[in-house]
Amino acid sequence: MKKTPFITLEKAREIIHQIPTPFHLYDEAGIRANARALKAAFAWNKGFREYFAVKATPNPYILKLLHEEGCGCDCATYTELLLAEAVGITGHDVMFSSNVTPEKDMRKALEMGAYVNLDDATYVDFLEKLGPIPETVCLRYNPGGSFSLGNTIMDMPRDAKYGMTEDQMAGAINRLMKLGARHFGIHAFLASNTTTNEYYPELASQLFRLAVRLKNATGADFRFINLSGGIGVDYRPEQPSCNIQVIGDGVRNRFEQIMVPAGMGDVAIFTELGRYMLAPYGHLVSTVLHQKHIYREYIGLDACATDLIRPAMYGAYHHITVLGKEDAILDHVYDVTGGLCENNDKFAIERSLPAIERGDIVVIHDTGAHCHSMGYNYNGKLRSAEVLLREDGSFKLIRRAETPMDYFATLDCTEFTFHN
Ligand SMILES: *Cc1c(COP(=O)(O)O)cnc(C)c1O
Repeated sequence: MKKTPFITLEKAREIIHQIPTPFHLYDEAGIRANARALKAAFAWNKGFREYFAVKATPNPYILKLLHEEGCGCDCATYTELLLAEAVGITGHDVMFSSNVTPEKDMRKALEMGAYVNLDDATYVDFLEKLGPIPETVCLRYNPGGSFSLGNTIMDMPRDAKYGMTEDQMAGAINRLMKLGARHFGIHAFLASNTTTNEYYPELASQLFRLAVRLKNATGADFRFINLSGGIGVDYRPEQPSCNIQVIGDGVRNRFEQIMVPAGMGDVAIFTELGRYMLAPYGHLVSTVLHQKHIYREYIGLDACATDLIRPAMYGAYHHITVLGKEDAILDHVYDVTGGLCENNDKFAIERSLPAIERGDIVVIHDTGAHCHSMGYNYNGKLRSAEVLLREDGSFKLIRRAETPMDYFATLDCTEFTFHN
């Protein structure tokens, strides 16, 4: 499908007048509409809940907005827990899905009354040491082998560090029940950025069957199945996109086949989506600084890989629109780059685009999740601002850009003085 930016050149200019590029811009209307569609797709399940994966877009304004739409937070670290807490999201509104967990982080999760999702059976000892065992405990599953849909291998759980085996889960549940746990959840994350409607239903059917087996083996009371993240988005215009209603119906189908006959029809479905909730509703807005012609044509932006590392890291495609030239012919071929001293700092390689001039404003699409949050400071590049485009068309700076002084703030400056 043709990718259309959610802002016009005129709107971009209005924002840039106050907030210089580069910045990440988020579309409140899109985020809310999408969150509502997810909720509607799973409305058949009484306890359904989305726990937004905080690592995707760790900004309290985003968390608050999603909380208003009924979403909780999925956190993995102490700092992410603090973010949720700052927004007033605590207790069972928080899922703590961590791994290689420091004691301090686990303590904080327990103190907040979060659901804790144990990455390994040895974490039972860890929990026991930290105080009373929570009433409800979630366990992360790793089925091993490969995870396939039809003839396509999606991922290799046997190579993944996460989760535990079925036997280990049964053992952990038995011990946890002896220690006072009364209810259980099951979690697994087996493939990332899937763009087929079959991923969630297939994952669900594996987890539903597992829940039935574990219930029979241990007598445990299962309260929720956490399908985690993994629903993807169409980064490329020609890619198919997921249909959340079809996905919800697919999961329902398996639920009715497997859970209902097993007397588990009241178990809740949880999700921990990150990318699906935010990616399409973010743009990296940037200005063209330079243009050069050597063996190829280069467009140099004021944004660089520190603002958006996915192309450099995964070779990921992000669509680019030149504002005001949305309908122009794509008769030029450019490498679109940032200014890091790293040749992989390219947002696009040999991409067909309209003729570009210095000063043009470009939008890099689908940067709402796992983009600003993966930012870094290589070459002394400073983390960019984040801006929320409100439903009424107004905008709000929800994170200012870093300054050089922010970059120096953690140094021991007893011997040195920095001047801005
Ligand atoms: C990263 C992550 C998610 C979110 O993944 P998406 O691909 O953004 O949907 C959910 N749960 C856990 C445990 C994760 O690590």
